[in-house]
Amino acid sequence: MFDKFFGLLSHDIGIDLGTANTLVWVKGKGIVIREPSVVAIHKKTKKVISIGGEAKKMVGKTPATIQTVRPLKGGVIADFDATSSMISYYIQSIHEVGNIFPVAWSRPKVVIGIPSVVTEVQRRSVWEAALSAGAREAFLIEEPMAAAIGEGVSVFSPNGAMIVDIGGGTTEIAIISLGGIVVSKSLLYAGDEMDRAIMHYIRLRHGLLLGETTAEELKITIGSAYEQKLKVKSEKLKVDSENKEETEKFDEKHNVEPSVHNQSKAAVVRGRDIETGLPKSLRVTEVEIREALAPVLSEIVEGISEVLEEAPPELTSDILEHGIILTGGGSLLPGIDKIIVDRTHIPVIKSEDPLTTVVRGTGKVLEDSALLQRVKVIGGLR
Ligand code: ADP
Ligand code: MG
Repeated sequence: MFDKFFGLLSHDIGIDLGTANTLVWVKGKGIVIREPSVVAIHKKTKKVISIGGEAKKMVGKTPATIQTVRPLKGGVIADFDATSSMISYYIQSIHEVGNIFPVAWSRPKVVIGIPSVVTEVQRRSVWEAALSAGAREAFLIEEPMAAAIGEGVSVFSPNGAMIVDIGGGTTEIAIISLGGIVVSKSLLYAGDEMDRAIMHYIRLRHGLLLGETTAEELKITIGSAYEQKLKVKSEKLKVDSENKEETEKFDEKHNVEPSVHNQSKAAVVRGRDIETGLPKSLRVTEVEIREALAPVLSEIVEGISEVLEEAPPELTSDILEHGIILTGGGSLLPGIDKIIVDRTHIPVIKSEDPLTTVVRGTGKVLEDSALLQRVKVIGGLR
């Protein structure tokens, strides 16, 4: 009885279960939910206090009784209970909307994009969580596949396509051909690691402890990856130490704006001084952030070249022709495409809307059941 009722009011939905952000697509409506993948839990009772944006606001500010969890940190399901709560919460909140606007008589389907490194046991858990949250049918698809579909790649063609998704916890690198993933790699170097690199750098260089959120804000406001400027900068430093006239000549030659010396792009942050233990403000420059990010970025670039090396030559020539598709929130870092081109000599195509690539892919899969049958993950389910 309840089942029948539920079936009447339900919508097919696609979920991007990202390490940093969870997005939900409702068939016929598009993206309806975009929230950080954070759950706040009461430590003792394990009761969920809040999910998404509300929970993210609590990060780094919780009293001893509350804990904030990023259930998918690192690309694997680190906290299964929190993951299930998140899935159920979102599926149910969609259905609440459905109660007001019942749409169609359809058997609700849920398609979830999961990191490709998730184990069979964990896949099964996600699948069960979706079913227990009220889905009639649940399908899992691998994130790189969803991302490729989201970016409009014809995944069944015999042309190799390379997709690099720089998310929060992981960078997923994959080469897709004939509807399957031929070579792939998941790195733990992505957005979160960039934030940690900034925290580390500021602590070593300025003796200041920053919170994760502050480090992320620095990255988003003044972060960049572009190497060429870095070269100019380091050469300039050498010249600088000699004399001022030389610097001016150098600037003329290299077309450096005078403002570079004043380090125009900068931000003021607050943190805790290690020595005094007291709050302190600090002006941080773009150049410093670039320096802080460099080691993480070079790991990502290295990972990309390793996957290319492992790929069959026929596919690499396709990729050389069509370019590497870059997506995920991390791809918003200015200049990140340039350092990949520098290292691989392959053109890079940046997604126009990298934060929604995977969920748009799940949306396309929902519309096309033949496609769904061909790309769904089977291992560990049934
Ligand atoms: P996931 O799929 O793992 O949930 P997302 O694709 O949503 O990850 O990307 C989240 C990451 O992107 C975070 O680390 C965030 O700091 C980073 N990010 C978002 N906007 C920017 C930006 N403008 N510049 C650099 N990094 C960004
Ligand atoms: Mg993602």
